[in-house]
Amino acid sequence: MDVRPFWLAGRPATGDGELTVTNSHDDRVVGVCSVPTPAQVEEAVEAAHAVRREAAALPIHVRAEALAHVSRRLAERADEIAHLITAENGKPIFWARGEVGRAVSTFRLAAEETRRFGGDVQRLDTEPAANGRLAYVTRVPRGPVLAITPFNFPLNLVAHKVAPAIAVGAPIVVKPAPATPLSSLVLGEILAETALPAGMFSVLPVPNDRAAGLVADPRLPVVSFTGSGPVGYAIMDSVPRKHVTLELGGNAAAVVLADADLDWAASRVALFSNYQAGQSCIAVQRVIVERSVREEFVDRLLKAVEGLVVGDPADERTQVGPLVSAEAAERVEAWIGEAVAGGARVLAGGTRDGASLAPTVLADVPAGAKVVCEEIFGPVMVVSEADGVDDAFAQVNDSVYGLQAGVFTRSLDVAFRANRELETGGVIIGDVPSYRADQMPYGGVKDSGVGREGVRSAMDDFTYEKVMVLTGL
Ligand code: NAD
Repeated sequence: MDVRPFWLAGRPATGDGELTVTNSHDDRVVGVCSVPTPAQVEEAVEAAHAVRREAAALPIHVRAEALAHVSRRLAERADEIAHLITAENGKPIFWARGEVGRAVSTFRLAAEETRRFGGDVQRLDTEPAANGRLAYVTRVPRGPVLAITPFNFPLNLVAHKVAPAIAVGAPIVVKPAPATPLSSLVLGEILAETALPAGMFSVLPVPNDRAAGLVADPRLPVVSFTGSGPVGYAIMDSVPRKHVTLELGGNAAAVVLADADLDWAASRVALFSNYQAGQSCIAVQRVIVERSVREEFVDRLLKAVEGLVVGDPADERTQVGPLVSAEAAERVEAWIGEAVAGGARVLAGGTRDGASLAPTVLADVPAGAKVVCEEIFGPVMVVSEADGVDDAFAQVNDSVYGLQAGVFTRSLDVAFRANRELETGGVIIGDVPSYRADQMPYGGVKDSGVGREGVRSAMDDFTYEKVMVLTGL
């Protein structure tokens, strides 16, 4: 099998080791990529540092054309890349195609946003002491970005860091997840086709123990991390002076109120608890149903769960595939076992076959069980009852996490109340918490992270406002 090169300052390179990527559905080897040496990591960081001023001064049309090129090429190669995502991640091809489509949008949105990302002129003579003064405000890149990305969206979550960085003129060094580096290497291949200066990007599939140096390196003043809380907070604590963004996990809740369209709610909750085998930071984990419709809703939910197509991720009809590894599935199975030992009832699923877990619905879960308190990251949902809106919202907020919440209601009053009262970064009315559009601000509160992504939000995050005051006007 050919060993894929990584991307060092815009060029393909090979290092001193190899990383083998396997498919969790059938354990076959899907690719091998080269691993950079410490000297090559150093070279990539120095190149990013050296090119930072040139990158910041790149004409907008050059950035926009590079971003538009990546978007077009991802679209042209969509089928091939979707199959690669499925192979390395185990994600059903249906969802992999969706992910590529989203990455196409992410780059296109960045190409559009960079054209709008100007500055601002403020007259300061609103106050007598500032007569004759004018402020010229621009946004300036904070500096080269270190992007650390998770396995569950191996293309689009890399895109969510690379596209805004290029849009603002910041060099970027990507450290992809070791389980799924291949899609990001294809992205590197496409980036290398653009007219961006060498040094503007590197994709370095380094093992975690070689990543500490990247995190600590002062030449990478921005760290944009998406992944689990313990790793994210350890990184943040290790570099208190850096600008760190953390996009972390959650145990997202869907609230189903009595006025909801129960068929719609059941079909959406069933699908989005199990999409990508529950390995999404906003997969539905907790389902909070108003007591008066509990029975009706749960009947519909169980039918919808039963109707999900589970199986080979390469099959176009499959909705639920394996988890990223058998170990991940064993961990989820153990958590289910802990809940059941504490009195939980299994309404559906609960069984494991290798890396695959049957879509699982649990009820009567004891307070404090991991399946409800921690991020399960598997195809498991926990149903509870609520006595009205107050109780439902209190249950949503009874979590250390706060990424997004979904509220199925037809009431505008309740929608605004949800927006005021739910302690989450986003509130999705009429749908599951798992909804995300790539242009909207996205991120958490509480232990779900710090900062926002979404193309424009990340562009703001990668830059600071700089003011020049003109005098005597
Ligand atoms: P993870 O924390 O294990 O790994 C994330 C990245 O950090 C990987 O690239 C990994 O190699 C790297 N890493 C691990 N240890 C490191 C170290 N010591 N130094 C530097 N880098 C290190 O997460 P994962 O299992 O890949 O992804 C799943 C997690 O990501 C879940 O918690 C999920 O909720 C979260 N996630 C969050 C979002 C979001 O936008 N909020 C999106 C997707 C996934």
